[in-house]
Amino acid sequence: MTVRVRFAPSPTGMFHVGGARSALQNWIYAKQQGGVFVLRIEDTDAARNKPEWTEGILSALDWIGISRGSYEGPYFQSANAGEHRAAATRLYESGRAYYCDCTREDVQARTGSQYQGYDGYHRDLGLGPGPGHALRFRTPDEGLTVVVDLIRGEPTFENKLIEDFVIARGDGSPVFLLANVVDDMTMGITHVIRAEEHLPNTPKQQLLWDALGVKPPIWAHVPVVVNEKRQKLSKRRDKVALEAYRDEGYLAGAMRNYLMLLGWAPSGDREIVEWSVIEDEFRLEEVNPSPAFFDEKKLRAFNGEYIRALPVAEFVDACQPWLTGTGTIAPPPWQPEEFDADAFAAVAPLAQTRLAVLSEIVPNVDFLFLASPLIDEAAWTKTMKDGSADLLDAAIAAFETLEPWNAESLKSTLEAVGAERGLKLGKTQAPVRVAVTGRTVGLPLFESLEVLGRERTLTRMRAARLRLV
Ligand code: GLU
Repeated sequence: MTVRVRFAPSPTGMFHVGGARSALQNWIYAKQQGGVFVLRIEDTDAARNKPEWTEGILSALDWIGISRGSYEGPYFQSANAGEHRAAATRLYESGRAYYCDCTREDVQARTGSQYQGYDGYHRDLGLGPGPGHALRFRTPDEGLTVVVDLIRGEPTFENKLIEDFVIARGDGSPVFLLANVVDDMTMGITHVIRAEEHLPNTPKQQLLWDALGVKPPIWAHVPVVVNEKRQKLSKRRDKVALEAYRDEGYLAGAMRNYLMLLGWAPSGDREIVEWSVIEDEFRLEEVNPSPAFFDEKKLRAFNGEYIRALPVAEFVDACQPWLTGTGTIAPPPWQPEEFDADAFAAVAPLAQTRLAVLSEIVPNVDFLFLASPLIDEAAWTKTMKDGSADLLDAAIAAFETLEPWNAESLKSTLEAVGAERGLKLGKTQAPVRVAVTGRTVGLPLFESLEVLGRERTLTRMRAARLRLV
């Protein structure tokens, strides 16, 4: 039997990091089993779907390594509407489903004030199809439905507690629960690896598989992803969109490594490992069923390590989208013609060791390309104290004739200026840094001044000095 798995996102919003994690797990499982990964876009909720969300899913998958053309699909659920309806008809004709025109209020009136689920009223009344008649599945009165789940053992459900659930609405359209089963069946899916939130649907879906006469798949419900308060990650409250992480400058390699650690870890206390190690060692059966904490701080630290591990030339390439502003990434504050690739290359190794995400490159290097620095006013006020004017005067005078203009001599010169005033280097540097870069933190100062050059450095120091008059 060839293993066939599928990833079946609904294009109703940005692509959720939890979805990306499930996609990767499906992807690796298929690879390990010599199987096939199918992508199915579940687009039957016409009111909430948008084509751009589908495009977002495809490009986000591509970004984390599930590249277009390397899987089967994408198929679209909406294209299978005929199959969904045919299955509903089959279930009706075989007596496994029946029509019902009760409203919720009708059921409530019969069963008392608390709605406890449908009461089976129409089971044997022989109502035929018609407008407003929903089709309900006749769940078995007794017995157990045992779900074989690679992560959760054998969750078992009592059939008598499962209501006769709706499989097609009053307008004849099949509901998601049925469409999802029919698609899995038609596509020959053998393993359904999906989010834990679908577990409550699973006994109902397995009953549908049985009723349609096909052996159900093996299931694996992967743990829910939660924030630091143990709340399920929600798009209203938390940063959940994979695209947002991409645009902030997380590296795909760091992201997918981190996502695979949600509920699982490679051997030997390791966390940062080659993708091939994860592909070899990952075992779906070893995934911890408890909720998995998505720790953004840890992800940032991870990403910093991935950034530092890049060869410098790759780091320079990886920064380009933020240096130019491409796609959904905001343009930098400088004009394209102000950018100087050689100056950037000169400071890139210094920046590389400092970034947690690539977007941080912009505030670190903007002073090099802008005609005048963006002054952070709070930093200015904090730094420019009584002695700053005198200090800048002395530094300007010393820098005017300094030879050679390099980091080493800049440092020793400024150190001497500070020493004459009884100041340590840190205190001496601060006003110069704010004058030249506009900020109190950034790349190593003297290397920055070397790259910026004498003229621009002095112009900025003089402008700052004028402000202090
Ligand atoms: N379309 C469903 C979702 O996005 C997935 C259902 C499934 O994987 O079976 O939640």
